[in-house]
Amino acid sequence: MHSLWDDAAAPRSSAPLALRAYTSRLIGGNSDLVLYGGGNTSFKTADTLYVKGTGVDLGAVGEEHFTALDLERLRAMLDDARISDAELMRGVDQCKHFPEAAKPSIETLLHAALPYTHVEHAHADAVLAVANVAGCENRCAEVFGDLAPVVPYRHSGAALARVCKQVFEDQASTRTIGLILAFHGVVAFGNSAHESYENLLCLVNRAEDWLQGRGAWQLPVSGVATTGMDKAESLREAASAIAGFPLTLHVASTPQTIAYARRHDLAKISQQGPPTPQHAVFTKRLPLIDGDIDAYARRYRSYLQQTLGSTPHELDIAPRIALDPAFGLCAFGVNEHYAGVAAEIYRHDITIISRASAHGCYHSASAEDIARAELEYGGFEQRVRAIQHNRSMDT
Ligand SMILES: [Zn+2]
Repeated sequence: MHSLWDDAAAPRSSAPLALRAYTSRLIGGNSDLVLYGGGNTSFKTADTLYVKGTGVDLGAVGEEHFTALDLERLRAMLDDARISDAELMRGVDQCKHFPEAAKPSIETLLHAALPYTHVEHAHADAVLAVANVAGCENRCAEVFGDLAPVVPYRHSGAALARVCKQVFEDQASTRTIGLILAFHGVVAFGNSAHESYENLLCLVNRAEDWLQGRGAWQLPVSGVATTGMDKAESLREAASAIAGFPLTLHVASTPQTIAYARRHDLAKISQQGPPTPQHAVFTKRLPLIDGDIDAYARRYRSYLQQTLGSTPHELDIAPRIALDPAFGLCAFGVNEHYAGVAAEIYRHDITIISRASAHGCYHSASAEDIARAELEYGGFEQRVRAIQHNRSMDT
């Protein structure tokens, strides 16, 4: 992956937030680093943390999208072991300099914990393809060493911030430029916008080089399908009936999706979970692979009940991704845009899972962790449907 830093394009203004926004857009504009709402960045002065607000795409972020918070207060809360994770998360909002400012990123405390002026967090495909395997810690130690110590999986927010702080304090050396977040992503940092961005690329390139050296980079391909569209349409109808609202279909028949759908080990590697929990918000935890939507729905209901104790009203039990040897991949979404989003995210997942499976046994975060992420980040489809409904009432 090449650096997109451009001296001519980088803002010359003395306002450091302008540069922070510039490199954030470089990261956010690369779908191999972050996808749809994933990733976040920050900048800090001696007493203030500026962190990306939630709901803004990293690829379109401007100076005005960073929320200013009281850095000392955030760190004091983080250091106080008597404060529970839930209280800590509630306390973040009270540290905003301006109460009306946007809700800051869920990883605000992680950004506060690290002693660098610039911090970036991404879900880089190549890093996930290296790390998301059984024996993740050993593999990461082999590939990244003390450049980026590995942090065990924790839920986003307070729990993740606390463990990152601990790992950094215990394991960082003078060479350390980031952290690998097991089954989640990567963090990089530095003391300028340019340095921090290049440190992120350094870790990604290390992962890419290692995968290439292990023969795990090339993706399997198959001939492009010409059949199966009727089947995809009938799956969409069945999925809509289960979801309780009409879903839109997006078919992605490519040499890679077809080769993936035809893999002999598909039932194993595709049924672990997504490479980073945030992807499940758009793709659900698992794709449909046998065309039996009723059986899928029964399994999904049981997964939600086992992990969350119920089927929350925010989550339905219909698939968003279906794989089939005839057409490869099809995705379902609340509208055309989100069907396309789900398809694009799953195409990245295919890349990550295929590369991880070429050098190890692919793993994701646990079912409990994915369900929690689906619930906490989910619910966007209901908001989209409400907006679509209001629009149709207006016309
Ligand atoms: Zn993340």
